[in-house]
Amino acid sequence: MKKISALLLAAVLSMGLLTACGDSETAAEAGNEAAQAEDTQAQDDVAAESTQTDAEVEADAEADVAGAETAALADGVLTVGTNAEFPPFEYVDDNGEPDGFDIALIKAIGEKLGVEVEVENMEFASLVSSIGSKIDVAIAGMTVTEERQQSVDFSDAYYEAVQYVILPEGSEIATAQDLEGKTIGVQLGTTGDFIATDDIADTTVQQYNKGVDAVNDLINGRVDCVIIDKNPALVFASKFEGQLVALDGAQFDFGTEEYAIALPKGDADLAEKINAALAEIKADGTFDELVQTYIEGE
Ligand code: GLN
Repeated sequence: MKKISALLLAAVLSMGLLTACGDSETAAEAGNEAAQAEDTQAQDDVAAESTQTDAEVEADAEADVAGAETAALADGVLTVGTNAEFPPFEYVDDNGEPDGFDIALIKAIGEKLGVEVEVENMEFASLVSSIGSKIDVAIAGMTVTEERQQSVDFSDAYYEAVQYVILPEGSEIATAQDLEGKTIGVQLGTTGDFIATDDIADTTVQQYNKGVDAVNDLINGRVDCVIIDKNPALVFASKFEGQLVALDGAQFDFGTEEYAIALPKGDADLAEKINAALAEIKADGTFDELVQTYIEGE
């Protein structure tokens, strides 16, 4: 699961430091494999953790070689990070367990891959940086963005989304221009946050760890609106029917977004396996069933 930079490893080896530690065989093997790894991969991993056993270092060095088998599935468990505060994609069910469309989807993928799926519930803003250390992959209604692509790879997209604007019933906000200068509630580190912070002039952005907290502050009059993805917006607004409305972001010129599973950078084998499983799930009707169960049947 953990990564060490092939480049870093190669550099350390060339300085002879590992050899000096008396672990020349493992280190040399790992070094040979590391040297074959692509430069870009190596650089991407430079910032990653390096507190690993020699066995892990070797396993990871193998996984980084193009065409090699992924280390992420080797223990028979796919550890998946999510933020279970984003219904209907992920939420905590009545038994305290993470459930939702994404959770069902990743479990179906795990079944196709013959591995157990273990879900770790964490803050949304921590997901990307936890891939490759605390978690193998993340599924969290996560939009593919160029910025995230600098640290992680993404699976094929599985859902199209757009940001919505939740407003108090009767609000006069109706266009992108109307949002200027407003106090906007968002979930920290999300695309809604980026739009409110970067794309709309003179806003005061209130960031929350949970979208539902932003919505509660909208009800309490502490923010003028909340920008959040379509499906959660519809779920949250429907909880306050008569008090809140959710408007399509297209009306505010927000572009469409695509959700995908975030993967460790450069692990081509894992990406291929997950994409193949996703394709099968789409082809055999499972995907549509999940959409019906979790999203359209709400
Ligand atoms: N789709 C949004 C993003 O990727 C929000 C995801 C979420 O809050 N779980 O930033």
